[in-house]
Amino acid sequence: MKTIGILTSGGDAPGMNAAIRAVVRTALDKGLKVMGIQRGYSGLINGEIFEMNRHSVSDIIHRGGTILRTARCEEFRTEEGRKRAAKVLKVFGIDGLVVIGGDGSFTGARLLSELGVSAVGIPGTIDNDLAYTQYTIGFDTALNTVLDAINKIRDTSTSHERVSVVEVMGRNCGDIALYAGLAGGAESVIIPEKGYNLNELCRNILEGKLRGKMHNLIVLAEGVGGAEELAKKIEEVTGIITRATILGHIQRGGSPSAFDRVLAARLGAKAIEVLLEGKKARVVGIRDGKVIDQDINEALSTKREFDEELFDIARALSY
Ligand code: ADP
Repeated sequence: MKTIGILTSGGDAPGMNAAIRAVVRTALDKGLKVMGIQRGYSGLINGEIFEMNRHSVSDIIHRGGTILRTARCEEFRTEEGRKRAAKVLKVFGIDGLVVIGGDGSFTGARLLSELGVSAVGIPGTIDNDLAYTQYTIGFDTALNTVLDAINKIRDTSTSHERVSVVEVMGRNCGDIALYAGLAGGAESVIIPEKGYNLNELCRNILEGKLRGKMHNLIVLAEGVGGAEELAKKIEEVTGIITRATILGHIQRGGSPSAFDRVLAARLGAKAIEVLLEGKKARVVGIRDGKVIDQDINEALSTKREFDEELFDIARALSY
C-alpha cells in the first residue's frame, strides 16, 4: 500500500473534518501518499482528485461540514458507474480508499470492494443508525445542538404554559430523540422503535397539567412523522396550545464536540492501520470503549439492538 484516497459521502456530520485530518496525518506519518477526493462518489467518478499534505488539513479540527464536500451520486448506484470509479482509482494510483459516511456510503464501499478495491468505512452520520458501532461521528455534537435548542424551547414553553413538540433528525433511528429527551428532561420521547398512542400521550399531558406542570415538552423523532401534524392533534384533544418546532439542518452543522473529535481521531488512525494490514472490505467503529474493525458485510447486516433500559429510564423520569 503506497497511496490512499479519502472521500466523504452522503449527509454531512460535524466531526467529518476531524476524521479527514486524522486519516491524512496518520497516513502521512506512516509514509503513505494521500489523495483527497471531492464530492463523494460523484467526484471519484469525475476524477476530482488532488494530493493532500499535512497543511491541507490545517485549521479544520473545529469546523463543521467537510472540506472535501459531500454529494449523493446516482451514477454510482449502477455497476457501470462503480466500474468507472474503480478505473479512476487505478489511474490515480490509489490502492486503498477511506470512505467517511453513513450506511448508504458503506453499501457503496462494499460494492466497490467487490471490484477489487481495498476500502474501509468510517461512520460519519449524526443519526447513530449503524448497529455495529456504539457511536457514529457527529451524533454527540448533534445531540448537544438539540439539547441546547430544547433548553431554550423549554423556557418559552414554561412562560406560556404550552405544549411543545420538537422534531429532531435521525431518520429511522430514535437515538437523537431518546438521548436529547432524556438529557433535556422531556415529558415524552416519541421514536420509531416504540411508536406512540395519541390517547395515552394526551392523557399524560392533561394529568401533568393537573399536577401543576408548567410545560410539556415532547421530543419527536422525524422517522415517526411530522411535528406540525402531531401538535395539531394534541391541541384538538387537550385544548392546550401546542407549538411545533422542527430543528432541521441546524443539527448537521456546528463545531464538533470534544467527544466527536476524539472519536474521529481514533477511528481515523484505525482506518489507516486496517488498510496497512492489507484488509480489503472493513469498517471501523467503537464498542465498549474500544476501537474495533469489522467486515463491511457483517457490519451492514448487524441488527440494531434497541436500548430498552434507557427508554425506561427516560419514561420513569419524565412525569
Ligand atoms: P449516507 O451514506 O449518509 O447513508 P446516502 O444513503 O445518500 O447517504 O448514500 C450516499 C451515496 O452512497 C449515494 O449517493 C450513492 O452514491 C452511494 N450509495 C448509497 N446506497 C447505495 C447502493 N445501494 N449501491 C451503490 N451505491 C450506493
